[in-house]
Amino acid sequence: MCVKLTCDILDTRLSTPAVINATLDKLSNKFADRREKHLGYPYNLDFDAWPISQFCKFLINNLGDPYVGSHYATEVCGVEREVVDWFARVWECADPEEYWGAVGASGTEGNLWALYLARETLGNPVLIHSTEAHYSVPKAAKILRIEALTCEADHTGAICPDALREVVQANRHRCVILALTCGTTMKGAHDDIASCISVLDQVGIDPSRRFVHVDGALNAMVLPFVDGLPSGIRPSFRHGIDSMSTSGHKMIGTPMPCGVLVVRREHVRRVASTVSYLRSDDTTLMGSRNGHAVLAIWNRLTRLGIAGFRHFARTCIGRADGFAGALRSASVPVLLNPCSLTVVFPKPSERLVNEYQLACHGNYAHAIVMPNVKADLIDRFVGDYTAEWPCNSRQKVFS
Ligand SMILES: *Cc1c(COP(=O)(O)O)cnc(C)c1O
Repeated sequence: MCVKLTCDILDTRLSTPAVINATLDKLSNKFADRREKHLGYPYNLDFDAWPISQFCKFLINNLGDPYVGSHYATEVCGVEREVVDWFARVWECADPEEYWGAVGASGTEGNLWALYLARETLGNPVLIHSTEAHYSVPKAAKILRIEALTCEADHTGAICPDALREVVQANRHRCVILALTCGTTMKGAHDDIASCISVLDQVGIDPSRRFVHVDGALNAMVLPFVDGLPSGIRPSFRHGIDSMSTSGHKMIGTPMPCGVLVVRREHVRRVASTVSYLRSDDTTLMGSRNGHAVLAIWNRLTRLGIAGFRHFARTCIGRADGFAGALRSASVPVLLNPCSLTVVFPKPSERLVNEYQLACHGNYAHAIVMPNVKADLIDRFVGDYTAEWPCNSRQKVFS
C-alpha cells in the first residue's frame, strides 16, 4: 500500500526542511499506530534499538569474509563472529572451528547462499523441498538453475517421510539437496529432521552425495529453547545437517531485516577465492554487508541471553495455546502445531485481515504470537473474530 506523503519529492520548491520533517513525523506516527495491532507476521516488534542508534552516524561495512575482514576499518567482523559462535552453540555444532557463518540480508539470502554452496559441493544435484517450503527455496533453485522437485506435506504442514521416500527413491542415482523447514511459513510446522535424514540413509544417499539445509527463519530461534522437545525436530547440527539459517528480524528482533547462516566450513572452503582488492576472501553473496544489522543482532543476543529466549519461547507458546483454545471454544476450527507460535484459522473479513495485518493463504489466515503479541491484543482479536463468526466461510479448511 502506498502512503500519501505530504511532500512531493519531485517538487523541490515544496521540500523545505519543515515539510520534510513533517513528512517523516507522519510516517513515524503511522508506524507506531500500526505496530500496536500487528498479528500476521513473525516479527518480534518488542525490541529496543536505542543502544545501537548511536551508530547511525557511521557507515559500518563488513566487507568480504567475516573471518578475514578487509582494509576498511569501520567494520564489526569480530562482533559478527561472536554472533555466529552464539548460534554454533545454540544449534549444537560439535566443534565450532569446523563451521563458518555470516550475518546476511535476510533468511532468504541464507537459503539462497546455502543452496549455492550445496550446488558447488555436489555438482549437478536435484533439490527436494516440500510443498510448504518458503517461496524463497524454489526461487533460489530457479536462480541457481538447480532442478527442483517437491514432496507432499501432511495436513499439519510437515513433510511426509513416505512421500519423501518416493521422491528420493526415484532419484537415487542423483546427488540430493534436501531443504527442510523448522517452522513453515503458513502453518508453523516442523519437518522431522531425523526421520528425513534416515530416509536418505535408507535409500542409500550417503553423506558424500547429499546436502541438507534447514530453513529455520522463525523457529530455529524458538525450538532450541523449549524443554522436552521431541529430538527429531530439534534444529541441531547433531542430525548431520550441512547448514541452517534464521532471520534476525523475526524472533531475535531487529529494526532492519537481516539473517544468519551457519554452514560446515568445508563447503565454504571450496568456493573461497581471494580478492586482493578487498584483502579478503570472496565467500559471501554480497560484497558490502550491513554492519548495523550485526550490531543489532549481537545487542539482542547478549542482552537477552539463553534465559531471555527461553522466556520468549515459553510465554509465546503458552499464549498461542490460549489463543487457539479461545477460538476453539467458539467452535472455530484451528490448527496449532506443537511448540509453534502460528495459529491458523479460517480467513476472516477483509476488514479484520487489514486491521490486524494477517497473512492469508487460500481460505485460511494465520496469526503469529510473537513476544509483542500480549493478552490484550489476542483478546481484542478473538472478540472481533468471533463476533463475525460463523458469518465467514464455514468450509472445511484443514483436510
Ligand atoms: C520468513 C521466512 C523466510 C524468509 O526470511 P526473510 O528473512 O523474510 O527473507 C524463509 N523461510 C521461512 C520458513 C520463513 O518463514
